[in-house]
Order: sequence, then C-alpha cells, then structure tokens
Amino acid sequence: MLIVGNGLLITLDADSKVIKDGAVVIEDGIIRETGDTANIKARYLNAEFIDAQGKVIMPGMINTHMHLYSTFARGMALKDPPPRTFVQILERLWWRLDKTLGPEDVYISSLVPIIDCIRFGVTTILDHHASPMSVPGSLDECAKAVEEAGIRACLAYEVSDRDGLEIRDQGIEENVRFIKRCREDKSPFLQGSFGLHAQITLSDDTLKKCKEAAEGLDVGFHVHVAEGPEDLEDSLKKSGKRVVERLDSFGILGPRTIACHCVHINEAEMEILKGRDVNVVHNPESNMGNAVGVAPVLEMMEKGVRVGLGTDGYTSDMFEAIKVANMLHKLNQKNPSAAWGEVPTMVFANNREIAKRIFGIKIGVLEPGASGDVITVDYDPWTPLTPDNFYSHILFGMSGGLVDTSIVAGRVLMRNRKLTTVDSERILARSRELA
Ligand SMILES: [Zn+2]
Repeated sequence: MLIVGNGLLITLDADSKVIKDGAVVIEDGIIRETGDTANIKARYLNAEFIDAQGKVIMPGMINTHMHLYSTFARGMALKDPPPRTFVQILERLWWRLDKTLGPEDVYISSLVPIIDCIRFGVTTILDHHASPMSVPGSLDECAKAVEEAGIRACLAYEVSDRDGLEIRDQGIEENVRFIKRCREDKSPFLQGSFGLHAQITLSDDTLKKCKEAAEGLDVGFHVHVAEGPEDLEDSLKKSGKRVVERLDSFGILGPRTIACHCVHINEAEMEILKGRDVNVVHNPESNMGNAVGVAPVLEMMEKGVRVGLGTDGYTSDMFEAIKVANMLHKLNQKNPSAAWGEVPTMVFANNREIAKRIFGIKIGVLEPGASGDVITVDYDPWTPLTPDNFYSHILFGMSGGLVDTSIVAGRVLMRNRKLTTVDSERILARSRELA
C-alpha cells in the first residue's frame, strides 16, 4: 500500500475537488481513497508514505495520439529541398526515417520518448507505429520498452499500401498478432488497436481486408483522418466521397476508433463522427507545425463529438499541448474567450473517456476505484488555487519539467526527478549511436 500525501490534491473527479494537505491511497494498483493527509496517515499505519512536501498531487496525464518511432527525426538532415506540402513532409522526412528502423531501433526509439513521458508526468499513451522494413514483431519491441519503463500504452501498427502489398499484409498480420497477444496477456498496461495510416495510402481492397481482419478482435482502429488538404482531394478523386464518408463506408468508424486530426472535414462528416460515437484526437502543435490547417474542434464539440488531445509525437509533454491548443483556437477564432472550456474537456474528461474505452479501466482521475496513476508537480501557487480556477493554474503555471514524481498503478517510475525503472544515460547514449 502506498500513500502520496502532504500535497495540494487536484482530483479531477466529478466535483473537481481540491484538497489542501491532501493524500491519495493506492492499494494493489487501484486508488482506495483520497482525503486529508493526517486523517489518512492515522488509519493506514503500515503504508509506505511519499511526502509531496506541499507540491501539487494530480492524476497522470494521458496522450491519446503519439508516435514513439519519431525519436530519430530530431536533428535529422533532409536530402531534398525543404517540404512545401504535407505529402512532401511524409515523403522527405517520415517515410525516409521509418524505412531505416530495425528491431533495436524500434526498441530504443520507443524507450527515449517514454523516458520523456515519465519525466513530464504522462502515464498513458495511445501510440501509432511504423517500421515498414521490419514489421513482424515490431509492436513487441515497442511493448518491451513500455513494460520495462512501466507506463501504460495502447499500440498499433500503421497499415499502408505505400511499400507494396507484402508489407501491407505484414502490417495487417502484426496488428492481429499483437491484439491477440494482449488478449492473452490481460495486462492492464498494454492494449492493442488496429492501426491504419490514412485513407490516402489505403486502397478499397486494403480497407476491406483490414475490416475483415479486425472482425472478432473486439477493437477499434487508430487512423489519421483528413490531416492535410491532399487527403481530402485524394479521397474525392478516388471514391467521390470525403474522407470520413469513405472510411465510414468500410466500417472503420466506431466507439473505440481513434480518428486523429480531422482538419479537413465538413458538417456532414461531423455528424457521422458523432453518430458513430468516434473518438477524434486533436494535435494542435503538429497541425500548426505541418501547416495543414486548424481542426474545427470547437464546432465538433458543440455538435457533441468527443474530442481528445494528443501530441502526434511532436512532444511528449501534455502540459505543452494544453498551452498550444489554448492559444491556437483563441487566435483562430479571433476571440480571447474561445476554448476556455473545450481544452480542459479534451485533455481531462475526453482523454479519460477514450482511455477507459481502450483499457477498460478508469484512468486519469483521483477517486476510489480508479487506477493509481499519480504525479506530483513542483508548483507553489502564488494566488489561491480553487476548484473553480485550477485549470488556469495548470495552463499558465505548470509544465512537464516541473513534474517531480510519476507513479503508475502504485509503482513509482520517477521520484524527486530520478527515474527508477530505466537507465536513461545508457539508453540516450545508445540512441545517439543508432541515430
Ligand atoms: Zn500521427
């Protein structure tokens, strides 16, 4: 049994409780209760106690769209002229990088951003993987990194036609194999979903095959949707349908499907996403950096579409994603009051709901019965932090670099900024060699 106490507890539960001198009790990986530290300490005399020393205690963050394999892109030189379009970014950067990855590259390039996740207080990720020259077993390499480091991850292999039918079929097989492995393992830390790149690299035949292969596996798909304008043009040319319509016609959309980006969609497509109860994931930094446009997430949310928040591998820091999402939509709407409610709903309520649909357990809230995924943040508010304003403290005052302790299911992965499960010096040195 573990108690994390003597801190300012932000529960993110239905009442948005803020408890001064608060504590959370974790037993067998699950939160047993939250409350006043003195009261809790007096009742659990034999529990291990982590003293937060007045820091903020809150649930671990969830990133609902990540690419662990993007590690070696940092500082990578391009051979071609700088990309001018989204497809050129794929061709000149990502599809060059992912073809170089062998098993050890996949393992190390997974561990590096997972170390970042732990340091930034991100305890759950939904990842989307590609290593076309080394497909079979690649999700096991990612999983090895996830299990060693101790975070929670849902993994998917991105099926695509771009490298030929043999590699496409390997991708389908890798998803099926890994999803079955997760079913057998029954680990609360690992899940699989069926990865698809994007409609732009998926033929009708491939989409049909993927839908058939996923039949009976009881999972959703994880797919990029209408990210760049080319995706929409290509879909219209190929099928006469818009992107969401085309994917829907193959049965790809459902309550456990992760539809990332959804930048170039119209109102009719929003209605489809809502009707299919799909999980849209917004990635503001990626969309801005790739200059693909601003996803109409505020309109989607107004219509009742569930929108979560991810990073698309641009960063591992969800505090950063919150800041960028907040500013992007205010600027885009030319309205300083925009997105005040929507961004916290994405990152807290909706990411939590998406994680629950994938992992089948309550994650991202400090309340009895939820998973014991807890972080402490070295933040001392200089104005009162209350149930009404804690979001503005998170937005303006906190960042991933202030996270001090990260805990997943009661297991301490970092304490006082020191990692406990992985040797980051050795891993980063190996990463530099492989890169
Ligand atoms: Zn992505």
